[in-house]
Amino acid sequence: MRRIVVVGAGQAGLVLALGLQRHGYAVTVVTDRDAETIRGGRLISNQCVFHPALTRERALGINFWDGQAPEILGASFGLAGDSPEPAVSWQARFDQPAQSVDQRVKVSAWLTAFADRGGEVQIGKVTPDGLDEYAREFDLVLVAAGRGPQFDALFSRDDARSPHREPQRTIGILYLVSGRDEPLPVYPGLTFGLSQAGELFGLPIQSVRGPVFGLGFFGVPGGPMDVWDGVTGVDEHFEIAMTLLRKQFPWVEESLAGAVPSGPLDVLRGRVLPIVRDPVGTLSSGAKVLAMGDAAVTNDPIAGQGANMAAHAAAVYERRILGHGDRPFDEAFLRGTFAEYWEKAQHATRLSNDLLGPPPDHVLATLEAAQTAPEVARRFANIFADPVDYAGWLTDADTARAYLASNGA
Ligand SMILES: Cc1cc2nc3c(=O)[nH]c(=O)nc-3n(C[C@H](O)[C@H](O)[C@H](O)COP(=O)(O)OP(=O)(O)OC[C@H]3O[C@@H](n4cnc5c(N)ncnc54)[C@H](O)[C@@H]3O)c2cc1C
Repeated sequence: MRRIVVVGAGQAGLVLALGLQRHGYAVTVVTDRDAETIRGGRLISNQCVFHPALTRERALGINFWDGQAPEILGASFGLAGDSPEPAVSWQARFDQPAQSVDQRVKVSAWLTAFADRGGEVQIGKVTPDGLDEYAREFDLVLVAAGRGPQFDALFSRDDARSPHREPQRTIGILYLVSGRDEPLPVYPGLTFGLSQAGELFGLPIQSVRGPVFGLGFFGVPGGPMDVWDGVTGVDEHFEIAMTLLRKQFPWVEESLAGAVPSGPLDVLRGRVLPIVRDPVGTLSSGAKVLAMGDAAVTNDPIAGQGANMAAHAAAVYERRILGHGDRPFDEAFLRGTFAEYWEKAQHATRLSNDLLGPPPDHVLATLEAAQTAPEVARRFANIFADPVDYAGWLTDADTARAYLASNGA
């Protein structure tokens, strides 16, 4: 039986490890934090996971939160204008509900399940040099250690696929609960606000201590929503978040009246550099290793694609590994595996990168038409679950306008 090691226990590495384990593979997961530390730690992300990724989790029997986590039923869009009411607004249901389970909850439970099902977990921080030891011991080394520069030298930047050299948003996320007896009257789906200063992204989440509302702001650098540097505590973050809400997205304010922060660790501030890397790294021994998830492709979270594409990577990598039998995991196999993942993932990256720029006229026209044409709203809302539909529709002004015309808009 092939021996496979996965470095990193996030959405990418663990879904793959649990999937291969089901087929009898001897998988080792090496990660720098144990389950208890992850669950008790600071907020990691504001993950919204759509139906295709949830389907995969259900197939693996790791959908522990179905029936417990609030269903995310659709999208509520608002475009900021000159008055407190949005200039453009609409709501549309997703074809299938999405779900957001706090990654601290999800990843810690999956790591425990992997160990309970007989998987080997090693706790330790792996360095690029340290990978050689794993390459000697294992038939295949997968690096799923998330975003950031730690493996920059190993997985070089793919310039042609990476349009940005700097982060394009400053991000501030906070989890809220009702400070009153009744629950917050929030929209049971994704609340998405767009202003010239940036975006608002809110959703119901199953968190460490139960249901919360995740409120995220994505600010254009240097603009009025670029406000998180130097903020230290959750109370200060809350004050700033409420001010941003009032100034930029006032129509959302009422649904969060009476909200209070859910806890001192339920807060996150930072920036994400979107980058696509060469996924095959060569170690000093000459051995080849393969990146996956954010370690290979990091998108700005503006379009909520990272965890979804990490799950997609896990599915593709598993299928390729199973189909490869006893043949060596050579460079052709590694490159072919990433290429199959990229067929779909490229559209998630394009969508994420495009949303970082000002919306072109045909996209604004589509958002406006969605107010009166429910099918346009439905199709737009569902590109987040299926970014492939974005390509060839909203990436092309003529196609987008022809589609609007055919929908009477
Ligand atoms: C603010 C924010 C909001 C987001 N919202 C969404 C959303 O709505 N929808 C969505 O799909 N995505 C979203 N994302 C993106 C999503 O969180 C990531 O794309 C996803 O978690 C990537 O999974 P991963 O397994 O590749 O990496 P990670 O989840 O980062 O996991 C990496 C793992 O590797 C471990 N590790 C790191 N370094 C080492 C090392 N040297 N040695 C050993 N272990 C190591 C870490 O502890 C961790 O367990 C968001 C991200 C952010 C920051």
